[in-house]
Parts: sequence; structure tokens; C-alpha cells
Amino acid sequence: MVSGEPRLAVRADRTRCCGSGNCASILPEMFDQDDEGLVVVREPYPDAGLRSAVDQAVLLCPVQAIEASPAEPVDARFRFGG
Ligand code: SF4
Repeated sequence: MVSGEPRLAVRADRTRCCGSGNCASILPEMFDQDDEGLVVVREPYPDAGLRSAVDQAVLLCPVQAIEASPAEPVDARFRFGG
């Protein structure tokens, strides 16, 4: 089902990650940790309905390694493509 709200684009800078695990605790369906404890983004384009939980993960990352922004509309990339 299409919600009408743009999806989010979530990125994590693994070079900054200190392996606290806060993000994976808050949103285990979106974030995981590799064998070294560094963040792995499992779902980089979550539904906008997860916005408040994503914002919490951004706020509670102790090294500001997570960024979230509205994703570019997928339709626009194809509608005006050559
Ligand atoms: S909250 Fe930040 S430092 Fe902790 S695992 Fe996630 S990205 Fe890494």
C-alpha cells in the first residue's frame, strides 16, 4: 500500500560508529551490527511512518553517525528519464 508520504533515506557512517548498539536496540528491523560491532543499515529506505523512531535513533547515536532525510521520489527519476 502506498502511504503518500515520501520514504526516508537513512545512512550511517561506519567510520564514525563506535558500536554502542543504540540504533539496533531502537530499530532492530532497520539497524544491525557486524562482527566488529559496527552498524549495518538493513533498510536504507524505510517508510515515513518510522520517522519518529528513526529520529530517536539519530538523536541517541553517541557519535552522530546516522543521517535521515526524505528520499527522492522514485517516480520522478523515471518520469523524466531519457
Ligand atoms: S548508535 Fe551510532 S555508534 Fe551506536 S551502533 Fe548505531 S551508528 Fe554505531
